[in-house]
Amino acid sequence: MSVRISYNRTKIVATLGPASSTPEILEEMIKAGADVFRVNFSHGDYSAVEDVVKHIHDLNRKLGTHVSILGDLQGPKLRIGEVENNGVELKEGAKLTFTSEKVMGNADRVFMTYQQFPRDVKPGENVLIDDGKLVLRVDSTNGKDEVVATVLHGGILSSKKGVNLPNTKISLPCLTEKDLKDLEFALKMDFDWIGLSFVRSGADIIELKHIIKELKADSKARVIAKIEKPEAVLDIENIISETDGLMVARGDLGVEVPMQRVPVIQKMLVKKCREACKPVIIATQMMESMITNITPSRAEVNDVANSVMDGADAVMLSGETSVGKHPHKVVEAMSKIIAQVEEEHSLYYSERPPIFKDPSRFISDNLCYSATQLAKQVNASAIITMTHSGYTAFRVSGYRPRANVFVFTSNYNILTQLNLLWGVRCFYYDKNISTDHTIADIKFILKKNGLISAGDYIINIASIPLSEKGMTNMVKLTEVE
Ligand code: PGA
Ligand code: MN
Repeated sequence: MSVRISYNRTKIVATLGPASSTPEILEEMIKAGADVFRVNFSHGDYSAVEDVVKHIHDLNRKLGTHVSILGDLQGPKLRIGEVENNGVELKEGAKLTFTSEKVMGNADRVFMTYQQFPRDVKPGENVLIDDGKLVLRVDSTNGKDEVVATVLHGGILSSKKGVNLPNTKISLPCLTEKDLKDLEFALKMDFDWIGLSFVRSGADIIELKHIIKELKADSKARVIAKIEKPEAVLDIENIISETDGLMVARGDLGVEVPMQRVPVIQKMLVKKCREACKPVIIATQMMESMITNITPSRAEVNDVANSVMDGADAVMLSGETSVGKHPHKVVEAMSKIIAQVEEEHSLYYSERPPIFKDPSRFISDNLCYSATQLAKQVNASAIITMTHSGYTAFRVSGYRPRANVFVFTSNYNILTQLNLLWGVRCFYYDKNISTDHTIADIKFILKKNGLISAGDYIINIASIPLSEKGMTNMVKLTEVE
């Protein structure tokens, strides 16, 4: 007997935008399989976000879903200023001066938003503009307000394009003024996850968490480190140990490191996150051609499928759902790829026993792992955890069991937050009864909903006594009558 796959394990993150802001489209996207919506603070205004968040909350109530919200902060993103005629041509071999003075740009001189640029940059470093379409190399800096560079690869320089400095050690704080405002707004709106762009080190994540606590002491938001800088790849151990989750932000990463390195980095990041039981999202251009087309390219199907096979927690849609023509069709197509791969491919491997690093979690970490091993041994159909902090859900999900992972909690915050995690399905439960009665009651609920059936083995893990909401210390194996 094999375990029924009743829902996709790998989650879908869909970025919101003008193409996906009405309740009707949001509902279609949720029904097609969107698990998390991403609000990209690089675009959009607060009142539009407030409306869309309200629609998501209404839909969660209406559909009985727990769709999660991720607020994505722009971070220290650099840009050039306005350019005359909204675009000038930069010819190979020409010189361009970047200035801290707010001038109207032309083919000789352009404003750069990053004021410390002349102090931080060194001759020989690269300046990439417009997702790497234009490449320049720095000749000299006056250390004050001007940097002169030579165009290595020319093209049209248009207003306000993004700048990447892959070789420069950027001395900006991890959050800009704009990020602080956006963060405050996201916390006020109780977003589940806060993503930070252009993370450079574990210290950036420590600082972000510190600022979150300062802005809202009782915030339950967890953080996602977006890996899109070479420095972040170098400090990956520290970043993973500080963060709650990771995003392989392939768009900017492929500009900041040679793009042919991205696939290997992606696999390395997925592996490390899985070892740490922290969720990892694969992002950017996954189904890019569906911004306009109604079907993905075969290469895109392969990209999504391989991310699923690697065991990523989630795959992300960006322009496909924010500005694309077919926001719900692309979610549907992605869901189908995930479902097919999960049905056919044996993803469920936790062969190598993990190393339990945290002595204070020794009992619960071992127990979560053992529950997944036991599930494999008896071919259990479900592992059911009761959790207040969500910790056991991260652990059990991290071992990628073939059994369904059902999480019961009375904590509203984590109900939606955990929706990002691989294989996790959450239920609200707040009856204050004994452990034995709770286990029986939960079994009844799952059976009534067709999620387990008579003859199935199920595994419960919990902390007893339940009322103390302490660390997980119990595992129970039963057969469903
Ligand atoms: P972005 O991040 O869409 O916010 O730029 C993802 C990426 O860079 O891939
Ligand atoms: Mn990015």
